[in-house]
Amino acid sequence: MFVHAATDELFDRPTEGLQRHGAHRWRGAVLLLLTSMLAWAAPRVLLAGPIEDLVAQVSAANYRHILDNLLYTRPGNNRGYGAEHDLARQNIYDHFVSLGYDTSLFPFVYNGSTYYNVVAVHEGTTRPEQVYIVGAHYDSANNPGADDNGSGTACVMEIGRVLASHRFEATIILIAFDREEQGLRGSRAWAAANRDMDIRGMISTDMVAYNPGGADRAAIFGSSNSNPCKQALADALTQWGGIQPTQYGAMDRSDHAPFEWEGFEAALLIEYHWESNPNYHRSTDHIEMPGYIDYDFAADMTRATLGWLASSAVPVDAVLAGPVPGQAGTVNQWTISGAAPSTRTWFVYSASGGSIEVPGCPGVMLGLSRPVLAGSTTTNGSGEAVFARFVPAGASGRFIGLQAVQPSTCLISNAAWHRFP
Ligand SMILES: [Zn+2]
Repeated sequence: MFVHAATDELFDRPTEGLQRHGAHRWRGAVLLLLTSMLAWAAPRVLLAGPIEDLVAQVSAANYRHILDNLLYTRPGNNRGYGAEHDLARQNIYDHFVSLGYDTSLFPFVYNGSTYYNVVAVHEGTTRPEQVYIVGAHYDSANNPGADDNGSGTACVMEIGRVLASHRFEATIILIAFDREEQGLRGSRAWAAANRDMDIRGMISTDMVAYNPGGADRAAIFGSSNSNPCKQALADALTQWGGIQPTQYGAMDRSDHAPFEWEGFEAALLIEYHWESNPNYHRSTDHIEMPGYIDYDFAADMTRATLGWLASSAVPVDAVLAGPVPGQAGTVNQWTISGAAPSTRTWFVYSASGGSIEVPGCPGVMLGLSRPVLAGSTTTNGSGEAVFARFVPAGASGRFIGLQAVQPSTCLISNAAWHRFP
């Protein structure tokens, strides 16, 4: 959108009509402009496209931080019946709470004791009754369980980090299951307790970091009833992970299976070479095993899973288009869509890009420098609105960005930039 950026002169001063609202003078030109463009990789601003923008926010470094430092995956650690089991569960819980999710512990009884799944809910905006789920078991086979299944748990946690500041039409639920290794106990209990929920798809990420020879291949398991879900995941692996998928039939050995038993579409995503993983269910399944954990591959598996989840739930970040007719000295219109319905929406502008937090909305960053209020309107029942404003003749030759903000929902649009001729 910055192909229009030209010379210093463009930004020399704000338009006369806008100036009385306090717009600042802009100097420093292209270098600062480029710096600002980088700063605009803000969470909610749509650039290349909604899904691509989200997928691009998955970080292998952050994934590694989660797997190495939050899930007790080092030699001697034990998330089975060992001391690290509850500590890992607490870290997962804290992770989702800190991201603002509606987070809870789901209790279930197995073998006379109570255990807990960690459940993080991100309620949908326009069809909240429809639910998409990504889950992974955090318990281990009484070992460090770096690949089985710290790797899948870190995938769910990194997805949670990226999606937290975005809104979707459908509800997203992220779950860390317990007692998978004793027979899918946590997922069985949760799926049975929620069999009346309108679950449209569920993916279990279980062993996603072993990638011998850099083959970049993955296996997908599920019954024939889950074929649409399996195919969507296969497409996501190709499109967003650069991973070659192979689809197989039912395999009732991971947490997707209880969802299939309840009649839902579900699938297991697993590394292609899981059967030949030399550390499977052994004390050597830890992050310090040389050449074992492939963080980049795991991040790609995470990107693909996130791509499936986000495209299924459909992001609803607002899109701002305009101005029309784009001429100075007349009334111009901007159109916002995908915003929260029936909500007061403010429009701010600036002659330069930047990064500034919306008051009351931590982490929600406008892509403008020192934005000035242009006015407000209220969206209709479909989350759309037209904003009209007279742009004075003095704006001719100026490059102006307008951005929409809904403070009550902490939703912002892209910044719509235009050079008035
Ligand atoms: Zn497992």
